[in-house]
Amino acid sequence: MKFVDKAKIYVKGGDGGNGCVAFRREKFVPLGGPAGGNGGKGGDVILQADDRLTTLLDFKHKRHYKAQKGQHGSGSNKHGKNGEDLIIKVPVGTVVKDAETGEIIADLTKNGQTVVVAKGGKGGKGNAAFKTSTNQSPDYAEEGQPGEEKWIELELKLIADIGIVGFPNAGKSTLISVLSNARPKIADYPFTTLAPVLGVLKLDYGKNVVIADIPGLIEGAAEGHGLGHEFLRHIERTKALIHMIDISDYREREPEEAFEVINKEMEKFSPQLLEKPQIVVGNKIDILSDKTEIDRLKRYFEEKGYTFVPVSLATLEGVDKLKEEISKLYEKITGERG
Ligand code: GDP
Ligand code: MG
Repeated sequence: MKFVDKAKIYVKGGDGGNGCVAFRREKFVPLGGPAGGNGGKGGDVILQADDRLTTLLDFKHKRHYKAQKGQHGSGSNKHGKNGEDLIIKVPVGTVVKDAETGEIIADLTKNGQTVVVAKGGKGGKGNAAFKTSTNQSPDYAEEGQPGEEKWIELELKLIADIGIVGFPNAGKSTLISVLSNARPKIADYPFTTLAPVLGVLKLDYGKNVVIADIPGLIEGAAEGHGLGHEFLRHIERTKALIHMIDISDYREREPEEAFEVINKEMEKFSPQLLEKPQIVVGNKIDILSDKTEIDRLKRYFEEKGYTFVPVSLATLEGVDKLKEEISKLYEKITGERG
């Protein structure tokens, strides 16, 4: 499942410093030679992929990025300092395009990968650099060149590793907000009011798990009612599922039934969906009076081969255990650790 997060920013390399016109002035030397130094080069604007970042949200707030200018040259053959490069960190997976032409400038797929998006201008030569055998005292210098400037588009494609399924009100949206430390805004989704919501869970060893709350999966989804098919297609691309079930006193149906109905819907759409590993989460235990229900359901789901985690997203009871299970699941589906 891929989601697109977008931003458009203006980048400008630093202008090059001007070259200097100057002459040596020394005691007893009536006319010194040319001694104007060169201007420094302007800094580049560089994008660098960083796997600690997960969204492009920062770029919605700050849109203009300029690298430092080169300093002008000065007398006594002093060259101006080069401007410092401006390094902008972006999430791994960011595609960079020229906003005007649409041309792809870079696809930053690896941590640490860089691309120069706006070159700094060259510094101008000072008059000392123009001295020749026939022109011993040139009285002109070059101006620095302007830094490159353009609007670029950043596009982040996130692949959701794990999808959350379950009936309305089971607590899917709440789970995303409890688990994630980042919630990328999603652009370009055709159903704006019912867009899947992504959360990014940071595991203790630094990896990010992208979790998608998939709304709208209800009875009838497999027949294409409502937006069901669209969402089922999304689920198809995740590697594992969290199945949320309301097990409180106020549940609208028995947990076993809720579980079966949702699974049937997925199966009707594509039997392979059921082959994805599922963690079953029994939610709202803060408003469950008969705690023996928890043991009963645990046995029921474990006999079927599923991990069952009872939680309350209201009091956060069980949430650490759930994170552990998600971490294990993530290792299983990606083979990654550390
Ligand atoms: P979704 O339809 O599956 O996305 O469900 P929501 O996350 O929107 O949750 C539905 C309702 O249940 C909301 O009013 C939540 O505040 C509430 N809720 C979610 N988790 C818990 C919980 O653990 N305990 C209690 N008491 N309420 C919860
Ligand atoms: Mg919801």
